Amino acid sequence: MMTEQEELTFEALPPSQGRGFARTWWGRAWQQALEDTVLDATLLRRGRKHARAGAVGAVAVRPGRITARVLGADRTPYRTDVLVQQLDDADWERLLDTIADRAGHIAALLDRDMPPELDEDAAAAGVSLLPGIGDLQPECGCGEWDHCEHTAALSYLVARLLDADPFVLLLMRGRGEARLLADLQERSAARAEQDTGPGGAPGVRADVAYAEAGSLPPLPAVGPVAGAGTPPVLTGGAEPAAGLDVAALEFLAADTAVRARRLLADALAPDHGRTPPPPELTVSQDAVRMAAGGPAARIAVRLARGTGRDRGGMERAVRAWRHGGAAGLAVLEEDWTPDPAALARATDQLAAAWEPGSRPRLRAAGGRWTAVGTGAQLRYGPDGRWWPYRKEGTAWTPAGPPAPDPATALATVLEDA
Ligand SMILES: [Zn+2]
Repeated sequence: MMTEQEELTFEALPPSQGRGFARTWWGRAWQQALEDTVLDATLLRRGRKHARAGAVGAVAVRPGRITARVLGADRTPYRTDVLVQQLDDADWERLLDTIADRAGHIAALLDRDMPPELDEDAAAAGVSLLPGIGDLQPECGCGEWDHCEHTAALSYLVARLLDADPFVLLLMRGRGEARLLADLQERSAARAEQDTGPGGAPGVRADVAYAEAGSLPPLPAVGPVAGAGTPPVLTGGAEPAAGLDVAALEFLAADTAVRARRLLADALAPDHGRTPPPPELTVSQDAVRMAAGGPAARIAVRLARGTGRDRGGMERAVRAWRHGGAAGLAVLEEDWTPDPAALARATDQLAAAWEPGSRPRLRAAGGRWTAVGTGAQLRYGPDGRWWPYRKEGTAWTPAGPPAPDPATALATVLEDA
């Protein structure tokens, strides 16, 4: 019976050349189960190569299943799953009894260690804790029905995760850490009561524990902020509910991770607070910002539709965003009335920048000046800068970053014309 959503996600590990995958006996046993199952040395070598090269994305571990996106040799990402046999309820009862029988087992697990005696005790109780030959079942988006280089890469990487935390193995086998520890505590308490009678269980008085909290060492200094991770694969073998766009959710999760990382890095920066925070974006601006992050085409279409743009409109908006963020987008999509004094000053600047006679002829409409016969346009923005535009098809399209003076902006777009 699953009483809680049990899942762990591990961010992608950086590439690491030359080291083995497992150092602990249980990590090696996992690796052995893979190698005994696959047998094909070439395939295993490719799997190790991918895993070392950082081709395995964030790994999601759930009861009976591990999942990740794995980049193939052709750089195509495949959704890759390895299914692990779960222990049944009777197995779990016996295993929990075995662990609870020895105080040292629980202490070792809490220390992220798994003593070989635990495995031996479990085996004596008829439970095989580690998977054996044939216990790792592959499922890969590359279409291979048997193990492939992607399932091998994922399995090798998981050996490394297991090394760091044997609870990962127990989760694959069906139960997460929180539930396991609660079950073990219950068993230990029941045993202590058998030993000493009700209320006689040893413990620490709450006031003593509270007083000791003050003597804890200080928290370590915050190190440099790591890069934002890749999001996990959100579907765990189950079909998503109707109408749920899983790819869009994964995209939002990735976007959120990148922004959260930036906020954290800013908050920790030495000059934090000296520059004003960026202004809040409207929904329409935020959709363009996300579209500029290069989502899958289908998601870009949703962002465009959701904000009343057609495809070409969103493409132009994205270009405006890349050249100048919200200010660039305003110049593309909003009309405004510039100060005539600023336009008069610009006329003088343009006159000074070209030899008389070679100066392009400009037709002005408010803050939009079109160079006649060139397909080039200048737009004066509310930010006081000049933005180069080029005519593509029938639409004026952002053509570059802004310049403080009109001559520079016009020169960039005329050179390209
Ligand atoms: Zn594959």
